Amino acid sequence: MGYERLRERMVERQLARRGIRDERVLEAMRRVPRERFVAPGDRPEAYDDVPLAIGAGQTISQPYMVALIAEAAAVRRGSKVLDVGTGSGYAAAVFAELGADVHTIERIPELAEQARENLRAAGYGDVHVHVGDGSLGVPEEAPFDAIAVAAAAPGLPPALYEQLVTGGRLVVPVGGPAGQRLEVVVRTPEGPAVVHSVECRFVPLVGAGGFRGRGGGR
Ligand code: SAH
Repeated sequence: MGYERLRERMVERQLARRGIRDERVLEAMRRVPRERFVAPGDRPEAYDDVPLAIGAGQTISQPYMVALIAEAAAVRRGSKVLDVGTGSGYAAAVFAELGADVHTIERIPELAEQARENLRAAGYGDVHVHVGDGSLGVPEEAPFDAIAVAAAAPGLPPALYEQLVTGGRLVVPVGGPAGQRLEVVVRTPEGPAVVHSVECRFVPLVGAGGFRGRGGGR
């Protein structure tokens, strides 16, 4: 089966059928060539319902998790978005396909370099890839309309909340290896408002505003 068919089937079975409603997110995920963001040997599995290893002990997130985050972040055309935990660059490409001005940050330089290549090859060369501790955000580019975190944090990273516009959304998995919830937090004049929370599973966010110590996980 060709990649386009596999992509269509992924959108139908893994996303639409499980409750992803935002038609723009479904359309973006019909367009981004996920096979370009996995290891060449894994291309036949690119549209499977699982995270896949991308090196350095990290993974490209399961398609459903990317869709859930993109929907929760309410990314619009022209939104300025920060994607924390670039990994393969796939989620950043989905945000770019939604029409956002995308900044993404990865702590492992080799992965950031690979993501830059993946993004260029797939036609998303205007995504800005930063290297560093994304638990501290990218202050020089703030504020952001949405910040999406692809690794689990012990709590709401305060620096990320501070880098939102009022009304902006922070989407972040919170919790340890035993269980996590994907929290959606809106910045309001009265402080953080948690609007939504569902169970999920991500690799750890490692850094000053994350878990101290070394990365790893699935
Ligand atoms: N969105 C990615 C998912 C990658 S998994 C994709 O679609 O492929 C999460 C990534 O977060 C890993 O690459 C990991 O190295 C990175 N990460 C963990 N802690 C981080 C931190 N503090 N700053 C930046 N990246 C971090």
